[in-house]
Amino acid sequence: AKADGRARLRVYDESLEDDAELQLQLEEDLRDALDTGGLRMMYQPQIDTRTGEMCGVEALIRWQHPTLGAIPPDQFIGVAERTGLIRPLGDWILREVDADARKSGSNFPRSVSVSINLSPIQFGQSNFVSHLTQIIKQLDLNYTVELELTEGVVMTDAEHNLDKLRQLKALGFKLAIDDFGTGYSSLSYLRHFPIDTLKIDRSFINDIGTPDGDGIVRAILGLCHALDLTVVAEGVETKEQALFLADHGCQILQGFLLGRPMPVGDLMAASEQNYLP
Ligand code: C2E
Ligand code: CA
Ligand code: CA
Ligand code: CA
Repeated sequence: AKADGRARLRVYDESLEDDAELQLQLEEDLRDALDTGGLRMMYQPQIDTRTGEMCGVEALIRWQHPTLGAIPPDQFIGVAERTGLIRPLGDWILREVDADARKSGSNFPRSVSVSINLSPIQFGQSNFVSHLTQIIKQLDLNYTVELELTEGVVMTDAEHNLDKLRQLKALGFKLAIDDFGTGYSSLSYLRHFPIDTLKIDRSFINDIGTPDGDGIVRAILGLCHALDLTVVAEGVETKEQALFLADHGCQILQGFLLGRPMPVGDLMAASEQNYLP
């Protein structure tokens, strides 16, 4: 069954959702994983270009499936979204991050902020904010938590979502737009919505070094400065990209060049390093 599962996973690598039988199995297995284990959080460093210090981490989920091996979050988050498991999964993520914070001295290293991804489906649930309020009552959360949302989420039903975003701010969360530049954008929502941070999508960072690529990244950085938004460059893989970004005033870098997602136990050592080139 093991080899069979692997082969199927390879065949359906691009779109697991096309295989109804596998979908059902994954749903059942994800339910089990939430009860009995197999999920864990990893943390990828975010580096402040002015000090070279770790200023934040992004929490990223991992699932080690008992027979299929590692399943990428892009694929099982979708399963959770289609089956109603996204709420228990989202709750599990918050609790696990908080437990990891306690493990690392109740504050993560050097009081870094922690970014947590929100699924659009999770955010879209009508009682999301009141549910979240209940969950965080049970947690320490004595560190800054930034919630990452994609542009589409913010833009659709903008008026209603603006309300929700304000409530999240009132609960003490910071808000980031994830994968910026890949969805629908309107410059006006950036001004009127209570957004703290833009994360430039890695496709743009990847194009640094080409004339268009340089121009686009410079323009996004200019926009962020004009609107007084913190800006994070995602998917920084080369020194050239890092230097270009730092030279043009990008405050925060995230990517394999600076560090891969790691278990909480490795964060303390990673935070003692200085990352200036
Ligand atoms: P994302 O939020 O855009 O997360 C960044 C992804 O880029 C992560 O993939 C990370 O490992 C990867 N990455 C970071 N630096 C580099 C780099 O330098 N080069 C390249 N090529 N990739 C880099 P990951 O962990 O596989 O997550 C994929 C997506 O799954 C995430 O995209 C996010 O949308 C979703 N996801 C991950 N964890 C969670 C979670 O806890 N909750 C929710 N709702 N979604 C999650
Ligand atoms: Ca993210
Ligand atoms: Ca992203
Ligand atoms: Ca994404």
